[in-house]
Amino acid sequence: MTAQLYIAPPAAGKTQFAIERLRGVLKVSPLATTWVIVPDRLQAAAFRQRLSDAGGTIGAHVGTFGDLYKEILERAGNPVPVTSDPTIYFLIRSVVEDLHQQGRLPYYSSIRNTPGFINVLKEHFAEFKRALIWPEELVTQTLEGEPGLAELAQIYLAYQQKLQSIDWADQEGLSWLAVEALEAQPDLLNTWRLVIVDGFDDFNRTQRRALRLLADRIPEVIITLPGAPEMMRPVHSRFKHAFDDLIAEIYPEIHYLDSSPHLPAPLSILENEVFEKGTPPKVQNERIFLLEVKSPAEEVREALRWIKARIQRWHISPDDCAIFVPKAEIYSAYLKEAAAEFGLPLRITWGEPLVQSPAIAALLGLLKLPIQDYPQRLTLETIRSPYFDLSEFGLTQKDADLLELVSIKWQVVAGLEQWVSAFEGLTLTSPTPQNNAQSGQDKEPYQPSLPGGDSAAHLEVAFRTLVDRLKVTDPKLLNGWISWLEDLLDEIDYIQRCEPEVLEALRDILRALVLNETVSGSQVNDYQQFINSLQSAIEGSVYNLTDTLTQASILAARMIEGRGIRFKAVAILGLSEGIFPEIERPDPFIDEPNRLRLGLDSRIGRHQSSLFYQAITRADEALLLTRPYLAEGGEPWEPSYYWNEVKKLFPEACVRIKSDAPRSLHQACSRQEALFWAVRQGAVPQTDKKLIAQAEYVEYARQILQDRLGEKSKSRYEGNLSELSSEFSDLYGPEHVWSASRLESYGNCPHQFFAANVLNLEAKEPPELGFDASQLGTMLHTILEEVYQYAEDPNDLETVLAALPGIAYKKFASAPEEYGFRPNILWEEQQEGLIARLEKTVIELAKKSAGWTPFGFELAYGFRDKYAPALEIDTQIGRIKLHGYIDRVDRDANGNLRIIDYKTGSSHLSKGDLINGRRLQLPLYTLATSQSLKLGKPIDGFYWGINSAKAYLYLMKFKHDGEIGPEAAIDLACKHVERIVREIRLAKFPPLPPSGGCPKYCPASTWCWRYEPGFYR
Ligand code: SF4
Repeated sequence: MTAQLYIAPPAAGKTQFAIERLRGVLKVSPLATTWVIVPDRLQAAAFRQRLSDAGGTIGAHVGTFGDLYKEILERAGNPVPVTSDPTIYFLIRSVVEDLHQQGRLPYYSSIRNTPGFINVLKEHFAEFKRALIWPEELVTQTLEGEPGLAELAQIYLAYQQKLQSIDWADQEGLSWLAVEALEAQPDLLNTWRLVIVDGFDDFNRTQRRALRLLADRIPEVIITLPGAPEMMRPVHSRFKHAFDDLIAEIYPEIHYLDSSPHLPAPLSILENEVFEKGTPPKVQNERIFLLEVKSPAEEVREALRWIKARIQRWHISPDDCAIFVPKAEIYSAYLKEAAAEFGLPLRITWGEPLVQSPAIAALLGLLKLPIQDYPQRLTLETIRSPYFDLSEFGLTQKDADLLELVSIKWQVVAGLEQWVSAFEGLTLTSPTPQNNAQSGQDKEPYQPSLPGGDSAAHLEVAFRTLVDRLKVTDPKLLNGWISWLEDLLDEIDYIQRCEPEVLEALRDILRALVLNETVSGSQVNDYQQFINSLQSAIEGSVYNLTDTLTQASILAARMIEGRGIRFKAVAILGLSEGIFPEIERPDPFIDEPNRLRLGLDSRIGRHQSSLFYQAITRADEALLLTRPYLAEGGEPWEPSYYWNEVKKLFPEACVRIKSDAPRSLHQACSRQEALFWAVRQGAVPQTDKKLIAQAEYVEYARQILQDRLGEKSKSRYEGNLSELSSEFSDLYGPEHVWSASRLESYGNCPHQFFAANVLNLEAKEPPELGFDASQLGTMLHTILEEVYQYAEDPNDLETVLAALPGIAYKKFASAPEEYGFRPNILWEEQQEGLIARLEKTVIELAKKSAGWTPFGFELAYGFRDKYAPALEIDTQIGRIKLHGYIDRVDRDANGNLRIIDYKTGSSHLSKGDLINGRRLQLPLYTLATSQSLKLGKPIDGFYWGINSAKAYLYLMKFKHDGEIGPEAAIDLACKHVERIVREIRLAKFPPLPPSGGCPKYCPASTWCWRYEPGFYR
């Protein structure tokens, strides 16, 4: 028999013809077997709907080629199970590993374990099968050729053999078996009456072979194809290609359906004239819209707005609307976000990488805890995860807060040992008193406090229970691991908390793991191997949260998926250069000459204009095209050729939307959008009370933001607490004793002072191995102080250097406990380095000390338990008291004094820092030496950078305002002290980022909007 090929332009009634023919046959022979084959499930659903709308038929099967192949094999008595995607993934991975072990994959050895490579292989094997390229044939053809292609062929052969060894088939392999069954059994399907093939614009070789065999035995095989008698237009190139193949292999009778597209005028003109030369007829256009917007994100918002308007004003069902995108990776996130904001149900055809699902990320984190030995951050994240209920082990999400405090206090970076030693230490202490919220006395937010005693012991038991549950020492078969995992997921309630689609994808992977074990033979895996296999399969899988949507919804699909289905309203996005048409690139695994030689489709010249033509002819009532006009960097983004071609036909349809242009509120698609536009335009409708309340709140926020953006802070939101000045005057009154470093802290940034000293906040730093900058500074200071103190002769360099190592090693031995840090593995080497650094600093300091003898170390003044009284400075706001420690005082033979202040770093030690009021210690210590300690007036002083082994800011040389020497520096420092204390009493705490950036230890850095990152230490 001869197949019948019916050709007509899109929307010219091909599907309608197919439906009528089907109904005609079934009317005469109601029991006849009839099949309709369409490209995918979307089209199958659409065809069934149209069939039902046309009055329905009983007994017609509607499915894909895959469904047909299964039916053929069942009827041939040879049903074959079809492998799932994860199973294929594991099979390919295992054959790749086997070949590698045999030394047969030198070319791909380095990338063999990457999920991307396995996925590329999967796609290529499917392509080979669709093109009827047998593995043995490919091996022979590539034996002498490029090594990469030869290895690809070897993997393909090994994969196919493995699949056959278990009597399974992949989706494409099913087609081979079906074709073989048809060839082997000439009587097969000879009772069928009609097969209709609708919605295709091309056919692969296997499909053509199957159609040929069907046409030989079934009375009527009808194939529809878009196009026209001549097939000469550029938009027909893809259909012409399909047409030529069908003619060459199936020899159909050709018919041209005698009907023109049923589209309204502008859409039919578009169908007829796009990419054509000549003058199109002029018509009134209310059907085609072209929108230029700033970015892909805006494209999505405008497209959804347009569709929402069609749904609400034209009363089109969401099911009758579609958005086509050329690149899902550009638009996917924007679509989900905007559809959720606009309250529009969206069904997306593409899947998301499973590894990006939050539920899967949480699960992998939990499973990796024992492998990574319970690192602080991962442990806390796992306990806080909403996907787990760990109450079975006695842990709640709030326990993560307690564990965080434990880890900071005990410097737990990672390691069970560190956690255990922290718990052991804590059980010996008393708990920190509970705050009011915990005891239920007021409504202050929950503030966790460090556990101790019984509460620490309780926490330890819970933590150990979790650890014991995750501790698996004995290797197992994969089956055993999967049972273990399933039990665990059940215990922690993961199955109830995980999204069903994600859970199903995970179950597929677990099933595939079991099957893979069956195929590859039972093999014992340790825990790490099991987790590696699981993770690798997860990385190669996708999931789709919209698969289970049941309500009427807008379809979001890739351009290729639009063929064959019709909608009332269609939006097509991405018509700018580089997005659509896509830039075509050759296949990196099989080059173009080899693809042609093997009979594979070219990757260059993919008939994109035909795809575009198919997409623009999907709309029955209205069509929207959009494009972004600004690239990410702000430069203009040129329109694509396709855009220009449509614009040529409908120039007046093109509108550019500027995102900051005023818009009518009735176009807003969400409350937040309406509010945003109304506030920006200063026209909140007085009838909408809710909007008015929201606008008032926005105004309140605007004031805050305005303050934030102002050059100078003005309000309480920027530390201006002048309304509390009397409280601050009392708090920091005449009896308050200041330290120079606190005043410097205000001088560096008043808001930092406020956060650290008034609110008593500390920056929460995750614990790290090794000492931090402040611990290092204290260590080095103390060692230097003791070295000069206990050296036989502090004036003699040799004896100072001789004393250094002994004192330093003693200090290093007690430092971790004394300063509270956990040494890292380099601690031994670091000690050597620190001693070398100290030796250098001692040598260099000796060069600056000829004639000077150190005699005072860590001299204290102004502390209750010390002899020397506070330094008192008389100022216009009264007497100000200071206390402090002076690192070192030297004396020369004439009894002159000089001050040395050690500093670990070397930043902010310049003359400018004193002038700006950010570094005050040296002149204040100089004054205290004479006034409080009564040692006499120093004639000099400097900061000594321990790391740099250099002196900074010699007081003797200091010049300012015509004054010179220590007195000038003291005078200036006292003025700063007066200014700073006055401003603190006036409660002025503006955030002023220090030059060089904000320090990472500033406790306000997590909320301060003036934060500036930098290298400041
Ligand atoms: S983040 Fe910077 S500007 Fe803000 S308070 Fe801290 S130091 Fe000041």
